[in-house]
Amino acid sequence: MSPRSSDLGKPPDPKDSIAAHYRERHGSTPVIIVAAPGRVNLIGEHTDYNGGFVLPAAINRHMVIAASPREDTLVCLHSVDFSSDASFSLDAISHDTQAEWSNYERAVAWALQEAGYELRGMNAVLAGNIPIGSGLSSSAAIEVATAYAFRTLNDLPLDLVTLAKLCQWAENEFVGVKCGIMDQFISALGQAQHALLIDCHSLDHRLVPLPAEMSLGICDTKVRRDLVSSAYNERRAQCETGAQLLGVPSLRDAEWSTFEDRQQELPEPVRQRCRHVISENQRVLDAVAALEEGNLPAFGMLMNQSHESLRDDYEVSCRELDIMVEATWEVDGVYGSRMTGAGFGGCTISAVRPDAVGAFQAQVSDKYKSATGLTPSIYVCQAEAGVRLL
Ligand code: ADP
Ligand code: MG
Repeated sequence: MSPRSSDLGKPPDPKDSIAAHYRERHGSTPVIIVAAPGRVNLIGEHTDYNGGFVLPAAINRHMVIAASPREDTLVCLHSVDFSSDASFSLDAISHDTQAEWSNYERAVAWALQEAGYELRGMNAVLAGNIPIGSGLSSSAAIEVATAYAFRTLNDLPLDLVTLAKLCQWAENEFVGVKCGIMDQFISALGQAQHALLIDCHSLDHRLVPLPAEMSLGICDTKVRRDLVSSAYNERRAQCETGAQLLGVPSLRDAEWSTFEDRQQELPEPVRQRCRHVISENQRVLDAVAALEEGNLPAFGMLMNQSHESLRDDYEVSCRELDIMVEATWEVDGVYGSRMTGAGFGGCTISAVRPDAVGAFQAQVSDKYKSATGLTPSIYVCQAEAGVRLL
């Protein structure tokens, strides 16, 4: 769990204190300070592994690393949030079963070296304010911040797309979590006041401006269910079956008209799963068009439709997510809302008019609490830049 679970208030910004923490431990000023953001996916859910489109934004919650190079091959780490130290040698990187948080740094060092980049050791102190394990991708932020720190201290010729791919590979192969590319990609390549349209098949990507009259309201249901990984694997298999029956390499390649013509050939629930993925891909493209026109009501409507499709066709919502989304729909000044992430718990995302965020926090919190007995965490965020030096 997050050591700082500040809900409605503003949590301390690790950017303000990281240099002091570093000085305290090492008695000197860090050579670099790197910040990498968490993220939220605005629309395009369960499309990534079907080679489809996603539209995440980096948020103003960060993992911050203060670091200096060492003359040897040791990587000496301190986590402010876990009050914990860890160190490893770049010559032999293995998993740490004690300081588990350090496995993300180990993973990135391992992946960079496997890819042929030469590293020297470093001293690093890290702290963050991304809620941990809430689906806002604190793990990708640590990976991207770590890779960027190594890149800077070692002058590595590493572009941000390659950096993101190596971080995903690190999480897949070393940490053992089979995440897609979205999280690392947006943490590396995000821009302030923009979302990023990513084609998960080709990795083509394009920034999409977000209108100033929109804040991002993220509501954590506080519910986590073990069901996620088995349901996820089941959905993936159903999508593969659907693609085979429709005669396409992946559902990304299925036109809506093909689906309509041939849907009788698909057994349930494969038909429903295909309907979600194929319509969701189109909704992402429509959402980009709506944002580019500054048409927030149209964008919000697409978010709502995405939620309904995830709830009814893809069947990955749950009672708490539905209650939260419905509570947000009732607030004046909400353009639209949906569950975000794999489902069965985790967070919802709403597009909220900035002058309505106070009412949003108060009303949604009250309604959710009285319907479920659970106290939600509500974060109001803005779209932020990707990884950078401070
Ligand atoms: P998320 O949805 O936030 O990415 P994950 O389970 O994938 O959740 O990753 C969370 C893990 O990342 C934590 O258990 C911890 O090991 C590491 N982590 C996240 N934030 C921090 C932090 N501020 N300091 C140290 N480690 C962190
Ligand atoms: Mg993660």
